[in-house]
Order: sequence, then C-alpha cells, then structure tokens
Amino acid sequence: MFIAVAPYGGNRYNYGSYPGLGPASGTFLNSFTTGTSLASSEPREQRGTGAPDAGAVASSQADFDLRSGQFTNTDAYLFAGEDCPPVGELCSLAARLRDEGKGRIATFSPKVFIPLTHLCRDFCGYCTFRESPETSSRLYMSPEEVLAVARAGQRMGCTEALFTLGERPEQRYPEARKWLANRGYATTLEYLAEVCRLVMEETDLMPHANPGTMSRRELAALQPYNPSMGLMLESSSPRLYEKGGPHEFAPSKRPRVRLRTMELAGELGIPFTTGLLIGIGETRQERIDALLAIRELQRGHGHIQEVIIQNFRAKPATPMEESDDATSEEMLWTVAVSRILLGPDINLQVPPNLSADNYETFLSAGINDWGGVSPLTIDFVNPEAPWPALAELKRRTEEQGFELRPRLPVYPEYFLGEEAWLSPALRGKARTLTDSDGYVNGGMERYAGRN
Ligand code: SF4
Repeated sequence: MFIAVAPYGGNRYNYGSYPGLGPASGTFLNSFTTGTSLASSEPREQRGTGAPDAGAVASSQADFDLRSGQFTNTDAYLFAGEDCPPVGELCSLAARLRDEGKGRIATFSPKVFIPLTHLCRDFCGYCTFRESPETSSRLYMSPEEVLAVARAGQRMGCTEALFTLGERPEQRYPEARKWLANRGYATTLEYLAEVCRLVMEETDLMPHANPGTMSRRELAALQPYNPSMGLMLESSSPRLYEKGGPHEFAPSKRPRVRLRTMELAGELGIPFTTGLLIGIGETRQERIDALLAIRELQRGHGHIQEVIIQNFRAKPATPMEESDDATSEEMLWTVAVSRILLGPDINLQVPPNLSADNYETFLSAGINDWGGVSPLTIDFVNPEAPWPALAELKRRTEEQGFELRPRLPVYPEYFLGEEAWLSPALRGKARTLTDSDGYVNGGMERYAGRN
C-alpha cells in the first residue's frame, strides 16, 4: 500500500512529511486503511461517475493528491464508506485546503432578492416559493417594480440583483402566457432578459439570474446582462424523482437536464453558480456523485465560480413538512468533502441564514463565502430565515479569524485576469464597482451603520 499526498507544488511525498499534517492527518489517512485496502486502479484522468467496484478498490494502490482535489472518482467514494474518518478530521483537511487556496478572506454578496414571478410549472416536495395564479397577488413583477427594488438596494450599498423565479410558468398557466404576450414576450426568460438589461444599464447593480433550466439560446440571450448565472444541481440522484420522491412532479429537477444547462453555460463561457441541497433523501454516495459531476464540468470549462451547500429545512404545508431537517453533522461532512474533492480554488458557500445558531462553524469545514446577504429584501425561498445583520456577520466571521469582504455576483478571478470571461461592458462595470483586489469598493465601511 502506498499513500501519498502531493504538496501544492505538485511534487509527491509521504503524508508524514506534509507540513502541518501531523498526527490528526495521519489518523485521517490511516483510518481509511483500517480493515480495507484503500486503493484504486482507475487512472487519475478517468472521470466516469458511479460507485467503485469493491474488488477494484481492494486490488491496487491509493494515490491521493490533496492539493489538486484530484482524488480519483473511485477513491472519492471511500468518503461515503464505513472507514471514512471522523468529520473533525475531514474539516481540518478541508480548512487547510481553503487556507491554501483562498487565504483568510470570507466573502459575501450584498444583494437584493427579486422574485420576478412565483409561478412555476413544477411542484417540488419542499417548496414554499411557488404559487399559482389563484394564490399569487401578482403574476409577475413589473419593470418599474424591479427597478424600484434595485434602486433601493443601490442606496443601501448593494451590488447584486438576484433574480430567482419559478420554472417556465407559461407552460402551465394561460394567465402567465397572456401576461407575457400582452407585453410582447413569448416566454418568461425573454422577459427576464429585458429586466436584467434594465438593471444592468440603469442601476449600479449587476444581475445574477437563477431562472431554472435553460437552453443554449436562452443562456446566450441572458449572458450580455448577467456577469454570472446560477442553477442549483441540488442532487444528481435519479431516485429523487421516482414516485413519492421530492422531485416526482418536477421535470426540471431531472439531473440530466440540469447538468446539460450547466454544460451549455460552460460552453458559452458563463461564470456559473451551482450547489447541492442536503437532506432531501439523498445518500452520502449520491452527494459524491453530484460533486464529481460538478468537478467534471469545472475541469472541462472552468466556469463553476462557486458551489453552494444548502441545508434542507422542512416547511409547514409542504409534502415534506414531516421530514427531518438536514443535521449539522451531515452539513459539515458535505462541506468538508466538497472542499477536498473540488480543491482549494473552488469558492464554497453555506448560506448563513439557514444555520443561524452556528453558521460560523462552517468556516472550520472549508467554506470561504456566505453567498448573497441582503440588508433590504427577505430570502423569498426561505422567508422564515432572516439574513444576519451585516455587523453581526462581520463580527462572527472575524471571531473565527477571517476578514469579511463584499464581492460582486461574479468572483474577482473572472474579471481581473487576462481571460475574457465577461463582455467589455460587463467587465468595465465590474471593474468600476471594485477595488484592485476585485472586491466591492469601500469594503465593509460601505455598510457601516446599516443592518
Ligand atoms: S422548481 Fe423551484 S419554484 Fe418550482 S416548485 Fe421547484 S423549488 Fe419551487
């Protein structure tokens, strides 16, 4: 058996000489070997997903490269096995990787949340966001309403307009089709592109559209006004859309179509946000499936700008109201394994408002971002969970030894470098709004005295 850990420069040496990986990390690696020959015959470059064959696992040697997050797919599944080390050890390694890749800066995006429409063609078992025309007070926000929220956010120092909305409501509701047609739009996504243009051109905010699955043409239509877009993968498990599963009545949640949207975004060069929803019935092995699928996309296109690890919370009056919330233990395991598998350079995020009592603990598991936090609008997807006050977020982040800095909805690495991820217009606006490090001008002072 050979277990090695590559230093960040790429040279290989045994873990025992890895700086700072002392006894705890030795326990981490050795614990894999207890009773199991931890091994993989899969070439490092091989990227197929699927659980390892036990015989193959036992037949060759393990070869870990923690710096690059390049556990082979076969090795990755060992984290879901009985010999997985304690979560505390995973967190230690994940935090070390985060420190190497991101340093001690934690970021957030000061945003306004714009729920363009609550109408949705789908029905997810945990959702309280969706409404129907009978229950919704308005079918869509008007352009004037969108701009009013954006301008109010601008006055409070926000720089992101997060557009979250239901999936293609016009495919289910004639009322939606009629509302759109009366204004010259065939689809919700056409209307979304127009309001994103308005926000981009008439305010200091930058849009981040999160409208569900998209075709290549739809992504391309939004791209000029969105420096980044997003789509939560949630899970890559096909079990979850079987009868009785949370996605039984949600065709857009089929992993295949979501991964296809993410791949198209990569082909178009769109910085993209995705993530997992933890605790909706998926197994640890299935979470690793999803992380490896995200890793494959990132290796192919480099466009996965951040990965969100979001905990499920049961809500009243939903089919899953009796289900258990995701536990802190499962969240910590998932965050740490995400960092280890995706590597030091990925931006990894946990929403602080969904773990209000202990969100700072996720810094110890390898995250470097808190996501969008709004001093103005509520979290319309989780309306019961208020954002932390920015002063409190700063204090709790600093108590863990990190500096809190505001960022745009697109990360600095996508507009500071030579690589042309953004159009000249988007890049110019991003540079205008930020300092030389790519963080929002004025830093936390910008929000002094505000919520
Ligand atoms: S697709 Fe989104 S808005 Fe629609 S039901 Fe599912 S979670 Fe709710």
